[in-house]
Amino acid sequence: MTRERGEPAPQPQRLEEVLEKLDKGELSISRLDRVLGNSNLAALARRLYLERRLGVNLSSIASTILDFEELVGRNIENPIGAVQIPVGVVGPLRVEGVYAKGDFYVPLATTEGALVASVNRGVKAVTLSGGARVRVIRDGMARAPLLWTPSVEEAVRLVEWVRENEERLREAAGRKTRHGRLVEVQPFIVGNLVWLRMVYKTGDAMGMNMATIASDEVCREIEGSYPGRVECVALSGNMCVDKKPNCLNKILGRGKYVVAEALIPRRVALEVLKAPPEAIHYVNISKNLLGSAAACSLSFNAHIANIVAAIFLATGQDAAQVVESSMGYTWTELRGGDLYVSVTLPSLEVGTVGGGTRLPTQREALSLMGVAGGGDPPGLNALKFAEIVAATVLAGELNLIAALAAGHLARAHEALGRGGARDAQGRA
Ligand code: NAP
Repeated sequence: MTRERGEPAPQPQRLEEVLEKLDKGELSISRLDRVLGNSNLAALARRLYLERRLGVNLSSIASTILDFEELVGRNIENPIGAVQIPVGVVGPLRVEGVYAKGDFYVPLATTEGALVASVNRGVKAVTLSGGARVRVIRDGMARAPLLWTPSVEEAVRLVEWVRENEERLREAAGRKTRHGRLVEVQPFIVGNLVWLRMVYKTGDAMGMNMATIASDEVCREIEGSYPGRVECVALSGNMCVDKKPNCLNKILGRGKYVVAEALIPRRVALEVLKAPPEAIHYVNISKNLLGSAAACSLSFNAHIANIVAAIFLATGQDAAQVVESSMGYTWTELRGGDLYVSVTLPSLEVGTVGGGTRLPTQREALSLMGVAGGGDPPGLNALKFAEIVAATVLAGELNLIAALAAGHLARAHEALGRGGARDAQGRA
């Protein structure tokens, strides 16, 4: 039995007692932290119980630097250890944003062979072209409580009241958070039901907990002060929209609405990407635009999710928010003999404080880009991070459509994704 960092020396007799109770069904695995008084010890007990009961070996999952005393109650329940994902790095990537300026190395956590090499070739092309220009167009995390009223007349009255009382609602939200600020309430009426899509500035936090807690207080204020009949049916009424593919966030934005662009000189396209601008442009419009339209896809791009997911995993973002964070458009134009390319991410939900960003490896990954923790002033790190993510997505999109245009895709995956040649960097 190996002991991992943070695990106190177990008292074998106590541990055996607990395992016996678990076996007999007299104790549940969720009570172990309380019974043993230590979450690292509880993780060990859970592993031993599962190993014996299921006849499996969990020694790899046991091997972790995580201290569950720090994480239980914030990031995880019933821990048994951790899984590890390889992290690669791409760069230097030149970014010319408002908040991110300079050359960056970006960590990607993935098990997909060829992904890092592929993005890295795009990074090289973008950097040799003078870098990615990036702008955050909108910034706001949304939570949309669903409210019941008896009639459409009452629903309209409620929305009017909300408009007249926005300052009162802002104050209510402010009672629950220092960095969160209610900036807008977007009302929607269907029948007698009302959704109030509350949009918050959330500093450097992605902001979902913050917006949820503040919106709860706003709903109490409405229920307590509105002179007509209203009841909160659900704090999240799905018009937010969290962790579901949707059109609303694509239009209104959620998190950061970001655009990144670059002008790729013909020489760079030919030398680095091995394809002429005309071929890259044709693949983009026929695949990403027409192909996506024909499939009734909600997203018009090649593989934004690949890059977003890999950065999210490396940096402790909420992995389920890859769903809406990876919705986006890849756009190209021929400019003389050169190629203009842009990506638009309307719903990029990222933070540099809160959630998984406080875990040690994820925090180091953020520090690699100079965005770990709170910014000065608050909000600056999250905006800078969003610009870096969008620039990396641009590079990833550019390379994949170029690889398709040059017919390289299958060969690169054969070489890099199946344990083949290790020196095929840049062919994907
Ligand atoms: P959080 O960790 O819940 O909140 C951020 C915390 O950091 C707040 O306590 C905030 O204080 C503090 N803070 C300190 N410096 C800050 C700065 N510079 N900028 C912003 N805040 C600062 O994180 P969150 O982003 O709101 O929520 C993320 C978590 O929500 C993730 O774990 C995610 O998985 C989870 N999530 C929750 C829901 C839900 O419905 N609740 C849905 C999806 C995901 P103040 O609040 O006092 O400013």
